[in-house]
Amino acid sequence: MSIENLNDLYIDMLKDIYYAEKQILKALPKMAKKLGKESKLAVAFEKHCLETEGQIERLEQVFELLDKKAKGKKCDAIEGILTEGDELMKEVECKATLEAGLAAGAQAVEHYEIARYGTLVEWSKLLGYSRAAKLLQETLDQETKTDELLTAMAEKSINQRALEVYREDQVQEAA
Ligand code: FE
Ligand code: FE
Ligand code: FE
Repeated sequence: MSIENLNDLYIDMLKDIYYAEKQILKALPKMAKKLGKESKLAVAFEKHCLETEGQIERLEQVFELLDKKAKGKKCDAIEGILTEGDELMKEVECKATLEAGLAAGAQAVEHYEIARYGTLVEWSKLLGYSRAAKLLQETLDQETKTDELLTAMAEKSINQRALEVYREDQVQEAA
């Protein structure tokens, strides 16, 4: 499909985020598993995985409202962000340090989603798709809340634990 106008661009972006959500749905359980059951971040990832299932369904509803087939289009941005997360999981052995890295990586994912859904809500309204706008706004709110939760978790404990491990390493190196 060639993109000739704002409506085409809008459909194209819906396909982009539909693809991205499906990749995120696969990535979240992998990250949770790597962190293990005792990790609160893993619990948050699992919770957001369930929300992501609902977000995918909402996108399918939007495609239906527009009389379009729900179809993804490869999103290079999400591929890149998720590949960085995969690399961290291979490279970082220390659990506390990995948690700090994955919390930051998950925020990069949420920020991408917030950017996309923010635009999609706005364009839905402009194009007169008010029901789609409502559905997409619901998802945008979930992504925003998730981002805020990740910030709170990182600031309250995750970063601190990673910093403590770093300080212990420094003491050991000095000894
Ligand atoms: Fe999402
Ligand atoms: Fe994209
Ligand atoms: Fe999300």
